[in-house]
Amino acid sequence: MTRVLSVASEVYPLVKTGGLGDVVAALPPALAREGVIVRTLVPGYPAVMDALHDAETAHTFASLHGVPARLVCCEAVGLNLLVLDAPKLFARAGNPYAGPDGKPWPDNAIRFAALSTAAVAVAHGALASFVPDVVQAHDWQAGLTPALLHYTGAPRPATVMTVHNLAFQGQFPKELLGALGLPARAYAVDGVEYYGTISFLKAGVALADRVTTVSPTYAAEIRTPEHGMGLDGVLRKRTNLLTGIRNGIDPAVWNPATDAHLASRYTARRLAARTPNKAALKARFGLDDDPGAFLLGVVSRLTEQKGIDLVAGAVPHIVGTGAQLVVLGTGDPALEDDIIAAAGLHPGRVAAIISYDETLAHLVQGGIDALLVPSRFEPCGLTQLIALRYGTLPVVARVGGLADTVIDANEMALAAGTGTGIQFAPVTASALEIAIDRAATLARDTKTWRRLQAHAMATDVGWERPAKQYAALFRDLVAQHART
Ligand code: ADP
Repeated sequence: MTRVLSVASEVYPLVKTGGLGDVVAALPPALAREGVIVRTLVPGYPAVMDALHDAETAHTFASLHGVPARLVCCEAVGLNLLVLDAPKLFARAGNPYAGPDGKPWPDNAIRFAALSTAAVAVAHGALASFVPDVVQAHDWQAGLTPALLHYTGAPRPATVMTVHNLAFQGQFPKELLGALGLPARAYAVDGVEYYGTISFLKAGVALADRVTTVSPTYAAEIRTPEHGMGLDGVLRKRTNLLTGIRNGIDPAVWNPATDAHLASRYTARRLAARTPNKAALKARFGLDDDPGAFLLGVVSRLTEQKGIDLVAGAVPHIVGTGAQLVVLGTGDPALEDDIIAAAGLHPGRVAAIISYDETLAHLVQGGIDALLVPSRFEPCGLTQLIALRYGTLPVVARVGGLADTVIDANEMALAAGTGTGIQFAPVTASALEIAIDRAATLARDTKTWRRLQAHAMATDVGWERPAKQYAALFRDLVAQHART
């Protein structure tokens, strides 16, 4: 039995700004089936505190980075949660990272250092009932955890830094070193120093016993200057300790056979039952009811990473071919405006709903023909996995986890009966347009398209395989750690 303390700033469905929250929630039940017991340490944001019932105070900090705090144990949302209740840091409305004005909270360094310091306390035995063998830190918000454990020295659990997105690094002024609980020697090239600042993510990547990221291709890409976001040198040094394990989706949440958010439920054998979803979706978005039109969709943060500017650029081409497009997303205001403007120019053919709407995301995935994911980089990506499960063919940039999870329906794949979508490169508007044309051509051949949909729906997008890989990694690490 391996015990893992998972440290994260998001957990679905309580707090989620992206795929991180999904993964943090989905992995523990899958790991439990592999004999790994996980407790998940998260900040006590209002949404988390509201979900606590029968919670017990497990540990009290008289002062945690200058504020009163306690750790609360609770079972909620199917997980064993450990909640860091520190109202001065986390009892704030809105986004976990930014205030109502969209600007990062000015004390983010201290807020997330507190999360890591709490993790260190648990690692050192603050809870007699749960002393972890491994501490897994997710993204920059937990990145100080491996660093603090490294500098406090043995005995300590083994540490794993899991990178969900290298683009968010948590950089703060070097003057905060002492306030973060780091010793002076930590401010070094092989420590937390990063171009004259402190980087939480670099701290974790440089000092954890192992580093994982969320797909094999992303694990390779981030060691190159092109995709390394300034950390490729550190990652190259740690190549032997770096593993890519793809994410999965929760097959109970995302199941077209039982999905209550669809107008009509369906299976790979009853794909005709998908049609009413398309009609319902078009009505919802105010698109022309043109049943023969190829319907494309986007469900995404509207950011440059996600290539949303390329989607906006491809709109005239899409409309020119007679296809239609729905976009569900929120994000960068300039990109939101571009998408709204594109929709305004093509009423009935292109429509956008600028919103974060989980319910509607289900109907989009169950109603469109193809999902566009033209990301410039994509650590794993979840929307293409959802699309596969819903018989929606993903049209994806050949990067990161998109390259690993979608099989391009090229001649050989079609002959071998293995294609599940379309990949394109380079990540440009014209390559995206060509990929859309390839998908539309395939869709005109109903028999082939149905076969592709069936292959897509048969793809293994669950957590069983990744959980086995994480469990093996944790076991190896614990065995190795015990010997050192
Ligand atoms: P990232 O974490 O980079 O945003 P992922 O593809 O890994 O991208 O995960 C995104 C998750 O957020 C998916 O579960 C997706 O369905 C969901 N999502 C993104 N935008 C929206 C939206 N506007 N409404 C509902 N769900 C969304």
